[in-house]
Amino acid sequence: NEHWTAIVKERIDPELLQWEEPALAKYSMDYHHFSPVLTRQLQGKVAECIASPRSEQELNTLLSVAAETGVPVTVRGNGTGNYGQCVPVTGGIVLNLAKYNKVLETGEGLMRVQAGARLGKMESTARKAGYELRTMPSTFQSATIGGFLCGGFGGIGSISWGTIWDGLVRSLKIKTVEAEPRTIELQGDEILPYLHTYGTIGILSEVEINLAPRVEWMQWALTFDSFEQAFRFGQTVAEDSSLVKRLISIHEWPISSYFVPLDLPSGRTVVLLEIDTDCEKQLLRVIAEYGGQTAMKVSAEQYHKGVGVSDFTWNHTTLWARKADPGLTYLQLNFDQTRALEQIAIMKAEYPEVMNHIEFARQNGNLLISGLPLVPFSTEERLNQLMDRYKQNGVRVNNPHTWDLKDGGRSYAHDRLWEIKHRNDPKGILNQEKLKRPAASSV
Ligand code: FAD
Repeated sequence: NEHWTAIVKERIDPELLQWEEPALAKYSMDYHHFSPVLTRQLQGKVAECIASPRSEQELNTLLSVAAETGVPVTVRGNGTGNYGQCVPVTGGIVLNLAKYNKVLETGEGLMRVQAGARLGKMESTARKAGYELRTMPSTFQSATIGGFLCGGFGGIGSISWGTIWDGLVRSLKIKTVEAEPRTIELQGDEILPYLHTYGTIGILSEVEINLAPRVEWMQWALTFDSFEQAFRFGQTVAEDSSLVKRLISIHEWPISSYFVPLDLPSGRTVVLLEIDTDCEKQLLRVIAEYGGQTAMKVSAEQYHKGVGVSDFTWNHTTLWARKADPGLTYLQLNFDQTRALEQIAIMKAEYPEVMNHIEFARQNGNLLISGLPLVPFSTEERLNQLMDRYKQNGVRVNNPHTWDLKDGGRSYAHDRLWEIKHRNDPKGILNQEKLKRPAASSV
């Protein structure tokens, strides 16, 4: 330690560095406290130094010093990840990219930014230019594009534009961690292996994304007599390509009781929607067909002004629920689109305490029925048993209670990652232990 701290202090502008509490604790944390399992496993894992570069030159110098000394480096966007992705398990330096955040270019249907740019700023910049982000997490106001591409997967907009793997990214610049850091420029399919890899195989420095045309979004909160009716309504809206939408989120009662600011009617399943204003009449017909009732309707002028319905969707649902009851945790599931309701009913019969929360999305052109059910935590054993039962019923589980990249299960080309890592991070100092070495292999 003394070796690297002395060199870092000698070579790096002290303005970029923080060595003291409470900064160390703050920048070593993310939202893994949604999981009691991760909370236990990651307790006490903190960095020894926080480095916050503002320019490419400063970033290069930091990477060069890290490569020379071999100090562990864990990249951080804004620390809203849920799986301890940016917790520095082996200490060392947290490389905070939140100040490396310039919007460099907004062109015809594209935007180029530094990796620490916040998605909220990108969205408002795009909307002023007649565009919007294709997809963004419900944390868009605070999360960075680098963190979304390396730690997230989709969210608002995914019902129309898919996930981070579906043509969102046009090009990437990756920095290697070497005495003389290289900048690798990637396009097309070369980008894919880098997505959702927790900053283990290279550092995204610049990102160019494709934008969607701006739409005037109305926000709705609807209620239904039963979960089944709400689900069928949601699936109809999801599958009707003439209905332009950005969000379809289903919440079994009592989940909406946690959405205190929305003050929704009790005892009913709630559907939260973002729908193109031009589709209002068509939507009203579908609502009537499924017996829905409108509890809240917000005009497009109010979009992104104050609290919006998306603040209660995706993992924000879990956030509100845990505010009311910290004993709750969650899962991440993908149901079979041909028999999702049947899978949900089987699990409900066995685990009545599980509260169903569904987000409709698309991936690779196919409908994705994502489940983020709320689960009262009792023991790790019961949680694992619950995940096993989902799997036995043909439901795909992306385990949100592990910080191991492979067990989390979303990375695209897992068997190629070590080969890429060896080239970009020869000393193996990036986000150590998140990418487990393949067993019995030569790499
Ligand atoms: P961080 O948490 O800082 O980092 C995430 C990972 O990316 C870490 O492994 C980090 O090392 C790596 N990383 C960050 N920047 C870089 C870089 N430049 N180069 C290489 N690696 C890098 N996720 C979704 O996908 N959809 C959602 O709708 C969603 N909703 C959420 C709601 C709540 C309430 C919470 C707490 C989380 C939610 N998430 C969601 C998870 C998370 O907010 C998003 O994935 C978010 O995009 C992460 O961005 P961040 O800047 O905070 O990243």
